[in-house]
Amino acid sequence: MNRVSIVRQNDYIHDSLRTSLEEALAPLGGMGAFVKSGQRVLIKPNLLSGKAVEKAVTTHPLFIRIVAEMVQEAGGIPAVGDSPGVGSLEKVAEKIGLTPLLSEIGVSLVSFSDAVMVEHPRGKVFKRFEIARPVTEADVIINLPKLKTHGMMTLTCGVKNLFGCVSGLRKVRWHADAGHDYERFAEMLVDLAYMVKPALTIVDGIVGMEGEGPGSGDPRQLGLILAGTDPVAVDRVVCEIVGLSPDELPTLAAAGRLKLGVSSLKEIEVAGDSIGSAKVEDFRFPAKTIDTGMLPGFIRKLLRDALSNRPVVGHEKCTLCHVCVTHCPAQIMSVKDNRITIDYSACIRCFCCHELCPQGTIRIGKGWLASRFG
Ligand code: SF4
Ligand code: SF4
Repeated sequence: MNRVSIVRQNDYIHDSLRTSLEEALAPLGGMGAFVKSGQRVLIKPNLLSGKAVEKAVTTHPLFIRIVAEMVQEAGGIPAVGDSPGVGSLEKVAEKIGLTPLLSEIGVSLVSFSDAVMVEHPRGKVFKRFEIARPVTEADVIINLPKLKTHGMMTLTCGVKNLFGCVSGLRKVRWHADAGHDYERFAEMLVDLAYMVKPALTIVDGIVGMEGEGPGSGDPRQLGLILAGTDPVAVDRVVCEIVGLSPDELPTLAAAGRLKLGVSSLKEIEVAGDSIGSAKVEDFRFPAKTIDTGMLPGFIRKLLRDALSNRPVVGHEKCTLCHVCVTHCPAQIMSVKDNRITIDYSACIRCFCCHELCPQGTIRIGKGWLASRFG
């Protein structure tokens, strides 16, 4: 039986958060069950961008600091690494106030810019990944996702957070490769998660994000910490809490198809608080694309662009910073007459532009036909 613990925690105050994190790990055996003396422990939070902490874009810096403290007390040597979508790791850490919190306890940041190719013979679909070197050198990996919505993958939590182990613009290549195929992209994420194989996944769901996440949705007080050893099992419990059918989370559906991880609630033992008491009412997800699954393939293809959601630029707030143009996997964004333009016919609907726009001015709009008919 796979175990996932749920603990209620409403603020980011050191002592109470520390107690709650210990409570969350206790049913799993505590930090000492995962970290032994002298082991190098890589802590992988979500450090997407350097937006203000209150915007809930990143794993909270105090959450990261306390996990690092617990690793040290178990005898491990922690380091914190990620590959932000916008800006360097150092800049993002500085902006969210993580740098002083880590330096006070002698923990360093590790850059993910150096990548190595790793064979993954047990991968179900993908047999090799180019990932950040520190991921391959750590003895133990601890995954610290933020609970947020995601324009392309609906939610980013245990499984999706590990995509940050792919360095910088190499992530763009995976998007370009998957194209419109969300199922294939989700299968890649699941294969990657089981190659990285975090020993622990601890979710910062104290203040999560709903609406148009992961970069510019709305912070939502959820008051939750979840912990488990299997990122798929953790995501399954999260779905239940926020009211998302497991079929609607592409990474869970992919894990089921690939038979990786535990995606059945019957095989998950919930410890601490119950799912019922943690339930979040009316959690808002990103706009859904109209399901054309029942239509014949050729009609589906014809209607795809007209019905699928698409990125829409709000020009009034655009600073022409070029972040979206640089990171667009399909390379179909450009500047014309001082305005960002998108070639929708070639847009793969990955929503990287929406995720990374520092101004939050790219929203997820309905396809032209879908919006015409409501
Ligand atoms: S839309 Fe956003 S990311 Fe793109 S150029 Fe404007 S401000 Fe920058
Ligand atoms: S325009 Fe945006 S959604 Fe379309 S391919 Fe480029 S980054 Fe992806």
